[in-house]
Amino acid sequence: MTNWNALYDRLRGSVPSLELRRDEPMSRHTTFKVGGPVPLMALPKSEEEVRQAMSVAVLEFGAHPFFMGKGSNLLVSDAGADLLVIKADGLDRLELEEEGKTQVAARPNGRVIVAGSGVSMARLANFALENGLTGLEFAHGIPGSVGGGVYMNAGAYGGEMSQVVTSVSSADLPPEEMIRELKDPGFSYRHSVYQERNEFILRVCFTLEPGDPAEIKAKMDDFAQRRREKQPLEYPSAGSTFKRPPEVDGQPVYAAALIDQCGLKGLTVGGAQVSEKHAGFIVNKGGATCNDIVELMAQVRERVFRETGVTLEPEVRYLGMEEDTWNF
Ligand SMILES: Cc1cc2nc3c(=O)[nH]c(=O)nc-3n(C[C@H](O)[C@H](O)[C@H](O)COP(=O)(O)OP(=O)(O)OC[C@H]3O[C@@H](n4cnc5c(N)ncnc54)[C@H](O)[C@@H]3O)c2cc1C
Repeated sequence: MTNWNALYDRLRGSVPSLELRRDEPMSRHTTFKVGGPVPLMALPKSEEEVRQAMSVAVLEFGAHPFFMGKGSNLLVSDAGADLLVIKADGLDRLELEEEGKTQVAARPNGRVIVAGSGVSMARLANFALENGLTGLEFAHGIPGSVGGGVYMNAGAYGGEMSQVVTSVSSADLPPEEMIRELKDPGFSYRHSVYQERNEFILRVCFTLEPGDPAEIKAKMDDFAQRRREKQPLEYPSAGSTFKRPPEVDGQPVYAAALIDQCGLKGLTVGGAQVSEKHAGFIVNKGGATCNDIVELMAQVRERVFRETGVTLEPEVRYLGMEEDTWNF
């Protein structure tokens, strides 16, 4: 058992600039607006603070760290979790590299943007637009961070992180404490190698091609308009609850279409509801608990399997739940 008071005091003393919160409700940090407390949350503002916090917490106190970005793909147990949460928000460096400094063979005209893992996808996409660079238009409406986007290989409207990320730097857990740079982070559909590794994503390089700012802006506006029309953005959610199932006979299969086909729009458990606007979203209509959402997901999964034979896999990541709760 970690002595959280002692760890808090030790971090206060050894890394005075590090922002710390005790008994922090995770509902304040997830877009679902659910989740109980964690005993300690650290909000570093530099890579050095991340390294120092991990070193003290893991080596001296045996604490388990959990890394998060904007909490837009997270479902946290109502009981919280007995973990140190390190939130990347403060790693907000965003720079355009000097022209030609880094060459990417496949993109000789490419320009490189370096972004801290806490930078929001919206800010990143706007920065690319301001610099007349194309390739990140898809990212504008994704309400996560650069770190979460890499971890999930986030994507939309035909674009995804794998198409523009050219290297990722991450910090291993102590005692390794290595900063590792990967040029190929094992991207596949909503997956990166970081899902199998306990590493903190620190910063990411993107290589983008020059483009016409008016065209880039028009594309971003079009995607934003489509989101407003199709998605229940007025309610808290974590976006698509389930991943896209594998193709059948070379044809894509969409989780939302299957859920809709089974007549599940509007299905409700407590404060959680399958959105009436977009069946792929579960929304918090007010006062939903994590238990409500998990129970609703289980019902949707069971009905879809019974009626279509397709097993839906969750896209949302979870914290503070036993594997068997989650695996229904
Ligand atoms: C309204 C809405 C619309 C959405 N639309 C889309 C969409 O179009 N496409 C899409 O792909 N997703 C979408 N999402 C889901 C979500 O925004 C993405 O999955 C996003 O990439 C998650 O980023 P985050 O920073 O919020 O990550 P979090 O939710 O904080 O974390 C997600 C996972 O990433 C890990 N992680 C986060 N940061 C780090 C880090 N620095 N180091 C190591 N691990 C880290 C966490 O441990 C966790 O397992 C949507 C969500 C909402 C609410």
